[in-house]
Amino acid sequence: MSISAYYDAIAQCNKCGFCQVACPIFRSTGNESGVARGRLAILRALIEDRLQWSRELEDPLYDCLLCGACTSNCFPAIPTSDLLIKARSEYLDTIGRKSIHRLLFDKILPYPKRLHLAARAVALGKNSGVSKLAGALGLLRIFGHDFARAERIIDRFPVHPLRKSFRPGVYQGQGRNLRVAYFVGCGVDTISQSAGEATLSLLMRFSSAVHILDNNCCGLPAWSYGDIAASRKLAERNLPLMDGDRFDVIVTDCSSCAAFIKKYPLLFTDNDSCTERARDVASKTRDVSEWLAAEAVPSSAALKGKRVTFHDPCHASRGQKIVKQPRDLLKQIPGAEFVEMPEADWCCGGAGAYALSHFDLAMQVLDRKMENLGKTKADILVTTCPACITQLSFGVRRHGMDVKVKHLTEVIQS
Ligand code: SF4
Ligand code: SF4
Repeated sequence: MSISAYYDAIAQCNKCGFCQVACPIFRSTGNESGVARGRLAILRALIEDRLQWSRELEDPLYDCLLCGACTSNCFPAIPTSDLLIKARSEYLDTIGRKSIHRLLFDKILPYPKRLHLAARAVALGKNSGVSKLAGALGLLRIFGHDFARAERIIDRFPVHPLRKSFRPGVYQGQGRNLRVAYFVGCGVDTISQSAGEATLSLLMRFSSAVHILDNNCCGLPAWSYGDIAASRKLAERNLPLMDGDRFDVIVTDCSSCAAFIKKYPLLFTDNDSCTERARDVASKTRDVSEWLAAEAVPSSAALKGKRVTFHDPCHASRGQKIVKQPRDLLKQIPGAEFVEMPEADWCCGGAGAYALSHFDLAMQVLDRKMENLGKTKADILVTTCPACITQLSFGVRRHGMDVKVKHLTEVIQS
């Protein structure tokens, strides 16, 4: 659907500028084209034919983190990030998709085995130093023009996916009569595996059966890029694995996946055959912090005497309104001291693979987060999104801080 269909929402911008203070990109660059007011002005100019679609629009359309902070600070609550996704979609229809994204969204992400093979190739390249060399020679710019610098954000890449150690299938649990489906996010599967292992241990402790799904990507990366058709196809492939009455609840330890699966009904029209399935699946999906808040009492002894703080993933705090649950859990850990971080819901700059194409901006946003982390004097920084874990871990290394970055499931029962 053309961006012109959203003219009324775009025209609600009264140009007050209150979004400036909340926007991590504007606070870094000071550029009007990088804040909601400026981005909406560009969309309005496109609709009113005062501006033409061109490659020059790539930056104002794609340097947004999609963090949603502007909407929280906007009196008419204009959903700028959603509108930008519609605009990205029209941009792709007009200007064309990049070949690397066609490969990723059409040929790799719909197939877990191919994702695992691709991740293994990346791991071998990364861990042997080949990708660093290739990046330095400019051979991998196809992944993003800042690949050479962004390559170091991931310290070490696991060679095997989580689902090699924990094959998809049903596992018996020791908890109450509850059938849980575990949706495995790509980031947990291929990078943040200790988080996945900790989550599975908790799921098995508190339920009678855990079904590790053979799901593909949730579709969020394609959606964020503006490839709405690709994200719909990814969702369509996942729905038959999760719908019906086989499971009481679907849990994922990636807040980004959880937020997007809850949005699945928006991908389809009322007439699509998938719509009912999408509603059913969305209604049963829980971010792991929501699920844990209802099921588990923290009992970790490993955090005794430690200061713990929490970073809100944008897809948890703004995408799902989950703020209180992880904090309540952390405050209950025996002997641990919870300390609130200033601007805890300020984006970390991870935003999927943002740094591959906007490394400097991603680092400016990350540096602000690290400055706030330093004020807490925390020993452990906890969050619930693997992309945030990767970005924050790099931030800690970049600033030489003695802070461990962990997923919530890794700290509440150990
Ligand atoms: S806060 Fe909202 S209404 Fe005000 S300038 Fe920003 S986008 Fe427009
Ligand atoms: S979504 Fe975030 S980065 Fe994008 S304009 Fe809004 S506040 Fe700025």
